[in-house]
Amino acid sequence: MSLSRFNALQTIENRMEPFPVELAEGSMENIASYFAENVFNDEAMKKHLSENAYLSVKAAVQSGQKLTLEVADEVAKGMKKWSEEKGCTHFAHWFQPLTGKTAEKHDSFFTLTHDGRVIEEFTGSALVQQEPDGSSFPSGGMRSTFEARGYTVWDPSSPAFIMEVGEGKTLCIPTIFVTYGGEAQDFKLPLLRSQTFLDKAAVPVCQMFDEEVTKVGATLGWEQEYFVVDEALFSARPDLVMTGRTLLGRAAAKHQQLEDHYFGSIPERVYAFMRDLETESHKLGIPVRTRHNEVAPSQYEVAPVFEEINVAVDHNQLLMDLMERVARRHKLRVLLHEKPFAGINGSGKHNNWSMGTNTGVNLLSPGRKVNLRFLTFFVNTIAAVHKYADILRASIAHAGNDHRLGANEAPPAIISVFIGEAMTKLLQQILKGNSTDGEEVKRVIDLIAKLPDLELDNTDRNRTSPFAFTGNKFEIRAVGSSQNCAGPMTVMNTMMGLQLVEFKTDVEKLVAKGSKQEVAILTVLKSYIRKLKPILFEGNNYSDEWKEEAARRGLSNHPTTPDALDVLSSKLAQGFYGKSRVMNKVELEAFHAVQLHAYCTKLSIEAKTLDEVVNSMVMPAVIRYQTELADNIGSMKDLDMDDAIGYQKDTLKRMVRAANEIREGLEKMNKALDKAHEADDVRGEADILCNKVKPQMDKIREAVDDLEMLVDDQYWPLVKYRELLFVK
Ligand code: ADP
Ligand code: MG
Repeated sequence: MSLSRFNALQTIENRMEPFPVELAEGSMENIASYFAENVFNDEAMKKHLSENAYLSVKAAVQSGQKLTLEVADEVAKGMKKWSEEKGCTHFAHWFQPLTGKTAEKHDSFFTLTHDGRVIEEFTGSALVQQEPDGSSFPSGGMRSTFEARGYTVWDPSSPAFIMEVGEGKTLCIPTIFVTYGGEAQDFKLPLLRSQTFLDKAAVPVCQMFDEEVTKVGATLGWEQEYFVVDEALFSARPDLVMTGRTLLGRAAAKHQQLEDHYFGSIPERVYAFMRDLETESHKLGIPVRTRHNEVAPSQYEVAPVFEEINVAVDHNQLLMDLMERVARRHKLRVLLHEKPFAGINGSGKHNNWSMGTNTGVNLLSPGRKVNLRFLTFFVNTIAAVHKYADILRASIAHAGNDHRLGANEAPPAIISVFIGEAMTKLLQQILKGNSTDGEEVKRVIDLIAKLPDLELDNTDRNRTSPFAFTGNKFEIRAVGSSQNCAGPMTVMNTMMGLQLVEFKTDVEKLVAKGSKQEVAILTVLKSYIRKLKPILFEGNNYSDEWKEEAARRGLSNHPTTPDALDVLSSKLAQGFYGKSRVMNKVELEAFHAVQLHAYCTKLSIEAKTLDEVVNSMVMPAVIRYQTELADNIGSMKDLDMDDAIGYQKDTLKRMVRAANEIREGLEKMNKALDKAHEADDVRGEADILCNKVKPQMDKIREAVDDLEMLVDDQYWPLVKYRELLFVK
């Protein structure tokens, strides 16, 4: 049973002060003593595998070599032994279906032999492949129900780990999730393909500058924002329970306008939760390092040291999972929704992205000895974003993010790139030079060398830009807080790969005509820089002027998810995913369908929840208070005290007006909802939900939020913002 507002508030009052908090085991020790203790990492592999098996796994990770079943058998044995020593009884294939969450299917090591004996085993074939009942995961029609098989396949590039839930310990094997025909049904396989594609495209470009480079990998450092609320209050809000956000609720008189929360001190209970979360993260090898308050009350951020992109993605998925679990231990709930509260900031997930080489070079760092290589990767990244902005926009489109991107808040739906004053000047100066010989190349290298230390210079950061250069990496800021980073990161890798292929061809053309390579590189870069102007924007991305200016520049603006996703059925997207082999036509169509379907499902659930909460909680309270007011007015009149009923009458009138608006809103919303469900296709359904259902939900909310001010506080059934947002 859900709690009532008053029970919930009482529950909090009854809790002992200070709230007793049990920290995770190990939290008082030195982090190094338990970091990655639950990961089957290099060290554990060396200990539990033969040299041959160890080297085979390494080769599989580094150059994609196939593993034999004998090796898989040995790895399985090693993993089993390692995990049993740590108390595991079960194993699970862990994967990232297109729902955006993670999934796992647990199996026991225990099995029966043909003659009925009990044994514990974990074979190579069980490690390599499993067949969870995939029929309930979204597949966008790739699997019809009679052929519902989906397979999880071991991904050796991501280390196995032990998930501890209460007393239970499970060996988790990171896997990809595919159909019988090998088509991707998850976020992970396209990501891995995009890494391979980027590597192949970037190495030859790196070799123009340094022959030693044989591998290029993308790196990701995410910054995860989230809200924390008390568990009892959470349970008393059916909208939070059902949809992850408040569908109703009036802004508290005090919210973020004082800006006293940002970098302020962290409440003790939340602090204990954070430390616990960090300990659990560190045990799993997630290198979280930074924690601080965010702008809104009860909003926080956690960020790790950056890692290779697929590992960073796994770690973020794991962290989101851990957050929810650890929070419950502290009688708290974590909200990962992009916009849990109206009127204050929502949450995002900044994705810091760069590329690194096997020689240890960050390709987006101008470094000390700056050179043409940095300029090459820097300019090509911007050119890629310019060309494929719509696909990048689609990768961050989902119902939750519409509340941020469409509204006047953190990164708008228009993709542009911020590079800062120093880099802007540099590009201008490069364009000024007009000789095309070696002298010109020297001058440019000289210019880059004179750049101020960008890594230290954070002064000109533009917090409103969706895509910003921050000294040694690009920061993609429009990613939603609940999203799997793999979506947008796959797009980044792919667009960069395609762009580098084009760049190499352009340079080779000039070299074939007799240009020196350095001169050819600079000439091509200059021709790119000349075309970059429309995508570069240093001003305020939240302003209305920018919307107009962006339209003049021909940049797209898709504030809603269904519109933003349309690009996925275009020639541009087919070429993008097809040429890079990151997704074939079937996979792309399925991906589009799954995203649209998820959008429709979310909005339908929200509308139905709103309908129920308004009818069964809000209106009964409103009617009770109306009756009270009406009775009071009647009594006063009976006593000939007509001059004492002004306030009551005004309030009653306002309440009646609001109630009528609610009635009308509900009726229209439900009609539209029926229409949406009758629509012929999912795109049509999404359209109705977006343009007919959602506006009615907003109208209903406005009326209810007005009533929240009028109705006796003792009657109001929903926990108010002022109670939710200031965790005690
Ligand atoms: P901020 O002021 O935004 O917190 P930081 O320099 O502390 O800036 O970095 C923020 C994030 O960027 C961290 O998660 C960090 O790991 C990540 N980061 C730093 N260098 C790189 C890189 N080369 N590639 C990817 N991410 C990086
Ligand atoms: Mg940042």
